[in-house]
Formats: sequence, C-alpha cells, structure tokens
Amino acid sequence: MKRIAVMTSGGDAPGMNAAVRAVVRKGIYHGLEVYGIKRGFAGLIIGEMEKMELSSVADIIHRGGTILRTARCDEFKDPEVQKKAVELLREKGIDGIIVIGGDGSFMGARALSNLGIPTIGIPGTIDNDIPSTDYSIGFDTAVNTAIDAINKIRDTATSHERTFVVEVMGRNAGDIALASGLAGGAESILIPEEEVSLEEVVKRLLQGSKRGKLHSIIVVAEGVASGNDVGEYIKGKTGFDTRVIVLGHVQRGGAPSSFDRILASRLAAKAVDLLLDNEAGKMVGLINNNVVATEIKEALSQKHEIDKEMLELARILSI
Ligand code: ATP
Repeated sequence: MKRIAVMTSGGDAPGMNAAVRAVVRKGIYHGLEVYGIKRGFAGLIIGEMEKMELSSVADIIHRGGTILRTARCDEFKDPEVQKKAVELLREKGIDGIIVIGGDGSFMGARALSNLGIPTIGIPGTIDNDIPSTDYSIGFDTAVNTAIDAINKIRDTATSHERTFVVEVMGRNAGDIALASGLAGGAESILIPEEEVSLEEVVKRLLQGSKRGKLHSIIVVAEGVASGNDVGEYIKGKTGFDTRVIVLGHVQRGGAPSSFDRILASRLAAKAVDLLLDNEAGKMVGLINNNVVATEIKEALSQKHEIDKEMLELARILSI
C-alpha cells in the first residue's frame, strides 16, 4: 500500500473535516501518499482528486462541512460505472480508499472492495443510523445544535405560556429527536421507530396544563410527521397557543463538538491502519468506547435500533 485516497459522500456532517485531517496525517505519518477525492463518488468517477499534504488539512479540525465537498451520485450504483471507476483508480495508482459517509456510501465502498480496490468506511452522518457503531461522526454536534435551540425556545415558551413543536432531522432514525428531547426536557418525543399517538401527546399536554405547567416542548423527528401538522393537531385539540420550529439544515452545520472531533480522529486512524493491514470492505465504529472494525456486509445486514431504555427514561422524566 503506497497511495491511498479519502473522500466524503452522502449528507455532510460536522466532524468530517476532522476525519479527513486524521486520514491525511496518519497516512503521511506511515509514509503513504494521500489523495483527496472531490464530491464523493461523483468526483471519483471522473478522477477529480488531488494530492494532500500535511498543510492541506491545516486549520480544518474545527470547521463544519467538508473541504472535499460531498455529493450524491446515483450513477455509481451502476456496475459498469463502478468498473470504469476502478480502471481509473488503477491508472492513478490508488491502492486503497477511505470513504466517510452513511450507509449508502458504505454500499459504494463495498462495491469498490469487491472489484479489488480495498476500501474502508468511516460512519459520518448526523442521523446516527449506522449499525455496528454506537455513534456516527456529526451526531453529537447535531444534538448539541438542537439542544441549543430548545434551550432558547424554552425561555420564550415559559414567558408566553406557549407550546412549541420542534421538528428535528431524522427520516428513519429518531436518535437526534430522542437525545435532544431527553437533554432538552421535552414533554413528548415522537420518533419513527415507535408508533406515534398524538392523542397521548395531547393527553400529556392537558395533564401538564392542569398541574400548572407554563410551557411545553414537543420534539418530533421529520420522519414521523411535519412539525406543522403536529402543531395544527395540538392547537385544534387543546386550543393552546402552539408554535412550530423546523430546525432544518442548521443541524448539519457548525463547528464539530469535541466528542465528534475525537471520534473522527480515532476512527480515521483505525481506517488507515486497516488499509495498511490489507483489510478491505470493512467499516470502523465505536462500540463501548472501543474502536472496532466490522465487515460492511455484516453491518448493513443489521437494523439500526433506537435505545429503548433511553426512550423509556425520557417518558418517565417528562411527566
Ligand atoms: P446520509 O446518511 O447522510 O444520507 P449516505 O451515505 O447514506 O449518507 P446516500 O445518498 O444513500 O447517502 O449514498 C451516498 C452515495 O453513495 C450515493 O450517491 C451513491 O454514489 C453511493 N451509493 C449509494 N448506494 C449505493 C449502492 N447500492 N451501490 C453503490 N453505490 C452506492
């Protein structure tokens, strides 16, 4: 292994830059040449890449987004396109690739490994929906962003005795909603993994109001329903002054938390080690605070699970 490449793919996530930095520096530390592929698989298939030096990744550890840019590239699902990409990588002398992204990106990584270019995946997505890791890069920062917003909403909610519905990201996974709802002291948390009962939400709101609660915060993951629909329903059933906040893309931005920077650095270092050991088709993850490698095939055959204990705790604490 002499020359490796790194890319970011799928949705961007805070901490991706810290991972790119760690791949480049750990690679160079071991005497490798490291190339940066631009715009994920879209850049890979046209050979859009450049050699990275130690200085290429200076001053990025604290920055959100990704200096390599990211993209979605449906074309790469086509086996013919994959074969051409492999030819191009061989021409450029790339011996191994590290892909930072979500489960879709891991499928692409696996395809490359199957075609003879050893590829390792690093989980980078705010959704935290990747099995075989307790956390993906960007999740912690996204939760902190959501909590920051909830804290501010709480101040105004109390002052005006209002009910606020906060819609957070999470199409298939309720991790951001659960973590920010628990840490933000939400009255109800609606996640896609659980059957949602809006009657129950209303019942809780009315009970709280009877006990003299001045404000209520409902956190809803975007995959359950739109915040506006939930807000309309609550307003219709309770008559409460109900406002809706859709946090949207602010959750993807901002400086990565220290947790995400450290996670990114640890996972990236392991990914480089795996390539040096001639491993392929694996993802790195954090399990019980240990950095662990798992076959991508095995990881993707598992279903991401929501933390049921945490969900129950959030319910108990929000009475
Ligand atoms: P996020 O979780 O943020 O959505 P992701 O990595 O899951 O990130 P996707 O859009 O699903 O995002 O995938 C990113 C890219 O990975 C796709 O645009 C495509 O280039 C590649 N990819 C996805 N699925 C496959 C597949 N089955 N085979 C080959 N490549 C794939």
